[in-house]
Amino acid sequence: MTPSSKPFSERRVILLREADFALDGGAMFGIVPRPLWERSNPADEQNRIDMAARCVLIVDPDQTVLIDTGIGTRWSDKERDIYRIDRQDPGLNRALGKVDLAPADIDHVVMTHLHFDHAGGLTYVDTNDEIQPTFPNATHWVQRRNWSWAFAPSPRDAGSYRVDDFSFLKSDKSPGLNLVDGIDEILPGVEVLPCHGHTFGMQVVKITCADATYVFLADLIPTSSHMGDPYVMGYDLQPLITVQEKREILYHASRKDWILLFEHDPTLAASRVEYDERERPSAIAVDSPPDSLTYIDSNTQSN
Ligand SMILES: [Zn+2]
Repeated sequence: MTPSSKPFSERRVILLREADFALDGGAMFGIVPRPLWERSNPADEQNRIDMAARCVLIVDPDQTVLIDTGIGTRWSDKERDIYRIDRQDPGLNRALGKVDLAPADIDHVVMTHLHFDHAGGLTYVDTNDEIQPTFPNATHWVQRRNWSWAFAPSPRDAGSYRVDDFSFLKSDKSPGLNLVDGIDEILPGVEVLPCHGHTFGMQVVKITCADATYVFLADLIPTSSHMGDPYVMGYDLQPLITVQEKREILYHASRKDWILLFEHDPTLAASRVEYDERERPSAIAVDSPPDSLTYIDSNTQSN
């Protein structure tokens, strides 16, 4: 088999940095004391740590797939201040433009889950002050369990879901919606793996290329500082399930040399996993990325 005839040899995986924002450091690290987490993630004067909002774009010769949509543009000045949203709007359009694509070119939108910092970019407000779908030609993919939960979350996590981000998908005129049940290869070489510790029906996404396999971790392991067992976000609904799910993903990533893609790490976008002598996992930066992997930042002038 020649290299060019390998499956997915023309596939490109592009990490789009849609925005920078900030969340409370204590909430991001749960039970871990601040003296431990602030070494790697220094907090600002309001106890917030730096966060990136990254999306993954898969470009095949015959289709484009976007995984998650960032925080989007529908934010008041007060909310922008609370979450320290720092980005030239609209960040996703700017990032897509750098690879000569527009939202209308996206064929599939895969949602890891519908929390506002992942689903915010699904819509925008038009000049008539109406909410419109950002990706009018895309089929949208969500785990059925997360879709149900997002419309009726618990009082504890209700603040993480904004129904206006995704309720348009219920409309007859809306772009397509495909609800997924469990593990599934939803498109060739694009496999979703459900996790339920962070919220019910989240899915991490495994992407197969000719030269590498990637796994986009969503909020299972939001940053490279969340690899170890106790480093579970305070937001998680079932923290002990998160611990188990992290262990399983990292075990497979280590055995099969998957590259981890971090949605929220402020500096490290891609890594491999390595275990120390006490079996504790850590993230090792990918020094020379595979040919299939590219990074785009919406805020920089060049790529
Ligand atoms: Zn989340």
